Amino acid sequence: MTQVQANARTFEVRDPGSGRVVGTYPEHDEAEVADAVAAARSAAPRWAALSFAERGRMLSRWRAEIARGSAELAAVMHAEIGKPPADGKLEIVMGLQHLAWASKNAGKVLGPRPVPSDLMTINQRATLEYPPLGVVGVIGPWNYPVFTPLGSLSCALAAGNAVVFKPSEFSPEVGKWLAEAFAKAVPGHPVLQLVTGSGATGAALCASGVDKIGFTGSTATGKKVMAACAESLTPVLMECGGKDALVVDADADLDAAADAAVWGALSNAGQTCLGVERVYVHEAVYDAFLAKVIAAAEDVRAGSDPAAKIGPVTMPSQVEVIREHLRDAVDRGGRVVLGGLDAIAGQFVQPTILADVPEDALAVTDETFGPTMTVARVADMGEAVERVNASRYHLGATVFARKQGEDIARRIRAGGVAVNAFVAYATIPALPLGGVGDSGFGRVHGPNGLREFTYPKAITRQRFPSPLALTTFTRTEFTDRVVAALTTLLHGRCR
Ligand code: NAD
Repeated sequence: MTQVQANARTFEVRDPGSGRVVGTYPEHDEAEVADAVAAARSAAPRWAALSFAERGRMLSRWRAEIARGSAELAAVMHAEIGKPPADGKLEIVMGLQHLAWASKNAGKVLGPRPVPSDLMTINQRATLEYPPLGVVGVIGPWNYPVFTPLGSLSCALAAGNAVVFKPSEFSPEVGKWLAEAFAKAVPGHPVLQLVTGSGATGAALCASGVDKIGFTGSTATGKKVMAACAESLTPVLMECGGKDALVVDADADLDAAADAAVWGALSNAGQTCLGVERVYVHEAVYDAFLAKVIAAAEDVRAGSDPAAKIGPVTMPSQVEVIREHLRDAVDRGGRVVLGGLDAIAGQFVQPTILADVPEDALAVTDETFGPTMTVARVADMGEAVERVNASRYHLGATVFARKQGEDIARRIRAGGVAVNAFVAYATIPALPLGGVGDSGFGRVHGPNGLREFTYPKAITRQRFPSPLALTTFTRTEFTDRVVAALTTLLHGRCR
């Protein structure tokens, strides 16, 4: 990693549990971002010139470096964002699964492959391949500061790009740790450059002339990123917010559904883009399900001590959003069945479950990003699907059902739906991850994720002169007659 010269401006990171300052980092400005992009650009050609297998081997060294340091990295996460270390370690291994997959499969997905020509172009040999874009800017969030950026970094680097990475201002040490691990594992290829700073540094990266921005963060910021990138026609990958739902059918395994709902809503203190924020339950099992969810959630406590199952809310400003959503839900007739406004102390929010909240309340329409969920009764799965799809967010969803699970999954508009488990699609490396609507577009993970950081390139080689020379001013009337006959033969007989 090339050290960008820091200017005088810095920002502090505080442990959200204690408020203690845990680090001070440079707020990189436009010139420093430009330096990082230039360093990445000069390293990119040598990296792109490696074979997929060579790059894969180097990325595997990085993977091993991260794996060996996972306890230390989880401790950094705990200090910066308050995530319990055991959850941090789980996040790391999930990220490494995707890094391994991208490293091993990039050649197969992106390398040259023959594609068939057709009757009119039978004399051409056609090849499709996916070269890297060049330098990719990756802008990350803090809530999964390893898993989320690794999604973009793995795909972009395995595809042969250099990257300038701007981690969230709430988790810069995690970003720095990953970049330093890369520099250690892959010396001589400074293709992972780090810049730190707030939104202004991210905005400078958008305007820096990189060949693509891989953005993960809120929908509101995503819109700003897109607007800035439009100025230079810089393409963007948008991994934005969510308001994911869990649906429970009458024949579902209620214990498993309650367990998934509680983990999905409360883990990481609810600060999960794919977190369960809304639950729709068939009326036949609503009361039984609600009782199970309350019982399971009562066992979860927010704190900073080792016994606490969830940590604090990372951003002080988010506590206000959570409060507003709870107040609004109650004002509109919602019932607090666990937790509530009194369960908020400083940045610690205890598990909160709301029932009978109207569908136009903020707690149902907007991303709450706290350890809360709304649980609503529906007459049937048709109504459940309708309510799930009524959101402007369409990131992921979970369905618990014995008979109709996959059918319900198909009717839900979302980038991924897991049946009888929570977020399984995000953990299977060959599957794409991403959203629709306000949740964004483009994909990380799997073949789609690799292609996201490339461009499709078509190459043809004429193997022999065409018996029908079409694209020449020497074309004859005979050729035109053959073309007319072919047009009828190939296309004119469709009924
Ligand atoms: P955020 O939008 O506040 O910030 C995300 C990143 O954008 C940060 O690095 C930030 O510094 C940067 N940024 C801010 N303003 C910018 C600007 N004008 N130009 C360029 N960059 C700018 O989001 P956050 O609070 O860090 O993360 C939480 C959000 O991320 C939630 O909405 C969550 O749902 C979403 N998220 C989505 C996914 C996904 O896969 N879809 C994954 C994780 C998080």
